[in-house]
Amino acid sequence: MRDTWPLLRDSDFPPIRRDRLDTLQLNLGYLCNLSCIHCHVNAGPRRTELMDRATMQLALDVAARYGIGTLDVTGGSPEMNPDFRWLVTHARAAGMKVMDRLNPTIMEEPGYEWVGEFLAEHGVETVASLPCYSQANVDEQRGQGVFEASVKALQSLNALGYGQPGSGLVLNLVYNPNGAFLPPAQEQLQADYRRLLGDNFGIVFNQLFALANMPIQRYGSWLMSKGKFVDYMATLKGAHRPENLRGVMCRSLLSVDYQGYVYDCDFNQMLHLPVALEPDLEDDARPHLRDLLQRDFPRRIRTAEHCYGCTAGQGSSCGGALA
Ligand code: SF4
Ligand code: SF4
Repeated sequence: MRDTWPLLRDSDFPPIRRDRLDTLQLNLGYLCNLSCIHCHVNAGPRRTELMDRATMQLALDVAARYGIGTLDVTGGSPEMNPDFRWLVTHARAAGMKVMDRLNPTIMEEPGYEWVGEFLAEHGVETVASLPCYSQANVDEQRGQGVFEASVKALQSLNALGYGQPGSGLVLNLVYNPNGAFLPPAQEQLQADYRRLLGDNFGIVFNQLFALANMPIQRYGSWLMSKGKFVDYMATLKGAHRPENLRGVMCRSLLSVDYQGYVYDCDFNQMLHLPVALEPDLEDDARPHLRDLLQRDFPRRIRTAEHCYGCTAGQGSSCGGALA
């Protein structure tokens, strides 16, 4: 795989700082039943890196120390971590909101029949990836049969109450482009998803998040191999909107890798760009959750060219468009 970091490192991205800490995003590991081309964590069925229970406990301790209200769990497929249920149960018992970045096809895999009911029972907010409402596009991006499995899983979540008015069970969907272009307007796309998924499959959901693809890892490598990297970066930079700087997710979130090391966001984590703790850790140190138990959370945010993926056009964050 080609490394895009040398092309991203030197950047004129404007300086930004973290002003509060609302969310801890935990990457529970890179194990996944799929290997999507746009995946920015290179997840797949053969990855063995998984967060252990001691690290999860540290994360809960950090959350308690700073009064962090939201635990956002991601992967890979986070449910494939053997301690996923332990973590969710303890976070909910501590009064935290838990968001699960769900690859819905996991619910159709043998051994994971428990996922939907467990999430519903614990009131977990689901953020389910469905990169298009078209079977052809989804299967091209994620693999044969992924669309059908996703539809079945979303129907099961609906049957449990997810996405249904008044249920309190939130089902949001995530779209990302199937090529080297920015997402279309989120509101219009959401209306199209609602109509087509509703008419064709009876699926209901709360919101659609339209996310831009980041020029890093597998997707960045794909851009390079197709000779599209420079043009894609020009698209991102040309569409930069300074007003989006206010809402980029790193300003209120910290991301944690499976070993407990801390980053400004999931993308910096994948670029091995650790958070900069002030004042006395060097830039090349790797701050850990343990460090957050002893000092204030980091304010400075380490940025590079990929950050334009968050500020281009309508903007892109873990909660969808910013504009
Ligand atoms: S489902 Fe998500 S985590 Fe798994 S390979 Fe696809 S993009 Fe990556
Ligand atoms: S890529 Fe990460 S650090 Fe850069 S703006 Fe986006 S969230 Fe912030």
